Amino acid sequence: MEHQPWKVVITDCDHGSIKEETDEFSHLGVELILAQVKEEGDLIRTCKEADGIINQYSLLTRKVLESLPKCKVISRYGVGVDSIDLKAATDLGIIVANVPDYCVDEVANQTLSLILTLIRKTAFFDQKVKSGQWDFHLGIPIHRTQGKTLGLIGCGKIGIEVARRISSFGVRVIAFDPYIEKVHVGIELKDLDPLLKESDIISIHCPLNDSTRHLIGEKAFKKMKRKPILINTSRGPIVDEKALIQALREGLISGAGLDVLEKEPPDSKNPLLKMENVVLSPHISFYSEESISELKRRTAKNVADVLSGKSPGSVVNREVEGKTRASISV
Ligand code: NAD
Repeated sequence: MEHQPWKVVITDCDHGSIKEETDEFSHLGVELILAQVKEEGDLIRTCKEADGIINQYSLLTRKVLESLPKCKVISRYGVGVDSIDLKAATDLGIIVANVPDYCVDEVANQTLSLILTLIRKTAFFDQKVKSGQWDFHLGIPIHRTQGKTLGLIGCGKIGIEVARRISSFGVRVIAFDPYIEKVHVGIELKDLDPLLKESDIISIHCPLNDSTRHLIGEKAFKKMKRKPILINTSRGPIVDEKALIQALREGLISGAGLDVLEKEPPDSKNPLLKMENVVLSPHISFYSEESISELKRRTAKNVADVLSGKSPGSVVNREVEGKTRASISV
């Protein structure tokens, strides 16, 4: 490996302080630069001497990466690495790392919060009481959770945490996830159609991709036999929003709790904004002070690890094995 001091550039980030990142490099004698650059030319100029890069949104294209002869690792704040040309990074022997699980607790909690808010009609009653209406009959009927069925679409890290939490409410959990054969004790795997038919609550926890875009659309809503509530804390376009609005109007579902929408922020005329059985939050599930602090620390640690000759916590481009510039095994 080369000699210190290493140079690490944060291309851009939308948080003010870089204290966690600075602390993570303190034992390595790294020169850490917060560049806040977006344009290709600026990225090349600022990063050309960098041994490691931390990135949020600035696009690290092949042209940029080919101009960084010393760069051994790029670490992305968060899960997605769309801002990085992965193929180019791999061709050049640059390790790309991410932090896939910094907010599992937060998203699971937000999901539970939306489920309970809808079932107990908390947001509805809050508005009624504040407008001078003290009358629980306005919210009839309310049903108990005991004995109800939650259907998870996607049963990975977050889905399992939602299942774990809700099991203490006496709720049965079923899941549709075509990529797993076995799940956590207490969760029964099902095909999508029976899940849509049997669920009182449906909660989405799969990634957005070509096979999940509009997975929940008109046909799916028509298969929902128990007038479930629908929760989406994953990605907006997994639900066809026009079909969702229609399903709410026709009473095919009894409510929706949405942290994500097809268009964020929504247009002011979006009918969802006016519906009393819809609870919204502004794509906030990932956030707590602690999750953001952990994200910053672990994003920087990925780079510190590689510069110290260790494999980082989570490598995205495993195909780089055998040709890493850092001469380490991933
Ligand atoms: P994960 O990778 O651990 O789990 C995703 C699961 O979805 C996997 O088990 C996978 O097999 C399954 N899956 C893939 N394609 C599917 C399909 N077509 N149908 C059903 N299941 C499918 O991911 P995770 O950490 O549990 O996160 C889940 C999603 O939550 C992420 O993809 C992301 O979109 C979303 N998320 C949202 C926020 C937020 O702030 N709202 C924050 C973090 C994550």
